[in-house]
Formats: sequence, C-alpha cells, structure tokens
Amino acid sequence: MPVTVPFVDLNLQHQPIQSQIEQAIQEVLHRGDFILGQALREFESEFAKACGVEHGIGVACGTDAIALGLNACGIGPGDEVILPANTFIATLIGVLHAGATPILVECDPDTALLDLNAAEKAITAKTRALLPVHLYGQLVSPAQLQDLANAHNLLIFEDAAQAHLAHREGKTAGSVGIAAGFSFYPSKNLGAFGDGGMVVTRDEAIATKMRTLRNYGAPQKYRHTELGTNSRLDTIQAAILKTKLPYLKDWNQARYACAQHYDALLEPLQEKGIVPIRNCSGSGHVYHLYVIRVTDKCAIDKATFQEKLASLGIQSGIHYPLPCHLQPGYLHLGYKSGQFPNAEMLCEQIVSLPMYPGLQETQIEQVVDAIKSAVD
Ligand SMILES: *Cc1c(COP(=O)(O)O)cnc(C)c1O
Repeated sequence: MPVTVPFVDLNLQHQPIQSQIEQAIQEVLHRGDFILGQALREFESEFAKACGVEHGIGVACGTDAIALGLNACGIGPGDEVILPANTFIATLIGVLHAGATPILVECDPDTALLDLNAAEKAITAKTRALLPVHLYGQLVSPAQLQDLANAHNLLIFEDAAQAHLAHREGKTAGSVGIAAGFSFYPSKNLGAFGDGGMVVTRDEAIATKMRTLRNYGAPQKYRHTELGTNSRLDTIQAAILKTKLPYLKDWNQARYACAQHYDALLEPLQEKGIVPIRNCSGSGHVYHLYVIRVTDKCAIDKATFQEKLASLGIQSGIHYPLPCHLQPGYLHLGYKSGQFPNAEMLCEQIVSLPMYPGLQETQIEQVVDAIKSAVD
C-alpha cells in the first residue's frame, strides 16, 4: 500500500519559500561568516524576542541547550533536577551531561505533562530546579509551576523543544522559567536543515555564561576561563531558521486547525476507547504532535491498530514507546518497572497521528475513517 497520509511532510513547508531560503544561504556563503556570524546574531535576537525574553544563545542541538543551559544557571554536580519520566531521552541526557542528579517523576494520565503534585513530593534539600517538558506542544501550567518553584525556592528550566511559540495563561514557552532549551531538529515546529538548538533567557548573566560555555569556555578569543565546549548553531542553519521564523505562527495555527478537526471527528470514537491527549491550553497548544490513546476499551491492541492504519497507507508513530526510567542504558539510576504507572500506561497506549502544516482536511478524514474501521 503506498503512503496516502505521511506522518510528516517537510517539503510542503519548504517549497513555497525555497528561493528565500536559498538566498539566505547564499548570503552566508558570500560573507563567509560560518561560525558565530551575522545571521546567527540576528536569529538569536529575533527568536528570543518571539519568546518574550531578551537573550538567545544558539547551540548545536536541543540536548546541548539543556546541558549547557543548566550549567549556565549554576546547576551541576550535587544538584537535583526534577523531570518527567515520559519524555524524549534527551531531557534526561541534558541533566546528566550537566553533571546534575536527575529525579524522575510521574505524569498526568490525561495531558501526559509533568504531575506537579508528584514533583512536589520529590523535592529534597538538594533540589535546585524543576525541568518541565512542554510535551507535544503544550505548556505545563506556568502559574502552577511558578507557585511550586516559589514555595521551595527552585529554578524553572523549561524543555521547550516541542513548544516553539506555545502559550498558556498569558506566558509563552521560554519565558516561564529562568531559562529554556529549544531544539531545531528538522521536524520540530521550527526546524533547521540539520541539527540546532537554543537557550533563551531573560537573565543577562546566564546569557553571558552561555556564550562562554558554548565557545570553548572563552569569554574572549584565546582566553579560557572555564571548561567549555564547542556547541554553536551554524550561521547557515541560523540563516535558514531566520527565514522560516516569520511563518512559524501561521504554521502553528495550521497545526491547531488540524488538531481541532481531529478532535471533532474523533469525539464519537471515545466510546470505542480512542482518547486524545487532553488540551488544557486552547489555541496556545502548538501541536508538535497529535497523540491519541488506544485504551484498554478498544477492541484491538495498539500494534494491530497501527498495522491496520499502515495497511491503509497511513503512517503513525509512538512518542515514546519506553519511558526514560526503563531504558536499558539508564537502569543504573535505580528506578523500577511499575514505579510510574501513568508514564508506563501512556507508553503502552499512545499513538501519534500525522500532523504538520499543509495536512489536508480530507487526509484527516482518511485517518479517522481508518481508525474507525480499525476499532469497529
Ligand atoms: C527533540 C527534543 C530534545 C532534543 O533536541 P535535539 O536537538 O534532538 O538534541 C529534547 N527534548 C525534547 C522533549 C525533544 O523533543
């Protein structure tokens, strides 16, 4: 069966602006400022502004944004950082590369977001930061995060890798905490033509420290004041991202419209056991992914469900099939199977449906028809 509805289609996004992107790349070639060049500085400032903060510091990827960002906030060895068990492994890698101690906690079964009650219970004298993940494109409640952080004198560092320009309660992703990490992996809501990431912050001292850390620990050339690394966003990637940034709002709106169409069409299938992950932030949700649960109420199991979709030409994904605490390389952290029942239940039940700007209503209808025939 040929693919009728792909999981994602980046060409739809790039073709209409291809000449603009090519021109932006050409300009970098002509200037030759490939490392820490003009387009990087411009994109850093434009992206930070879009997030509602002053400073943006481009890095090589989202994983580095978390690792270096935490270090720039003064978090490292001996410090505990609280994060959800159901996230992409990069969140956990970021904490470990920062040298800090990750404390995994449970998530809410309906939104799949960090459970702040569970987070509060995990706080110890060593806890320095909360690391909420704005999973699938929806913010963890900024008001509740700030209440918890204030009550225990904690920093908030956001993993906003899936939440470019998402907002909730009047706050934009990246402006909730002291700093935030973004990823520009190609399929993210704002994606490069390769890897890329950024730390955004309102704090000038953190921004300065970040610029040093990403550039060999050198506040000025050939003067190395600390152990840094080489993690910079390429100027060419920044030029591409800067060209794409003005379209991001429209792309997010298109994703939201697709999600609303899915929501409406899937509503009657609730009784058959198909339950979308709950949106608690209205149009502030940027739907990096549209995720449903194939619950126990369904007539078939998830593997059969996905096979049925595939047989009808519809691609789907799972984000993510195994929670962080059960990943084979991380068992030494000491967590056990059964410790986070919601996170483990979600891994078993979730399926991500096709979602991208340019996805047609008729395609969404095809997907839902396929789901109907699968669960009937
Ligand atoms: C993509 C992603 C990252 C990591 O970004 P990279 O650029 O791939 O290193 C971190 N956290 C989450 C939640 C992500 O989705």
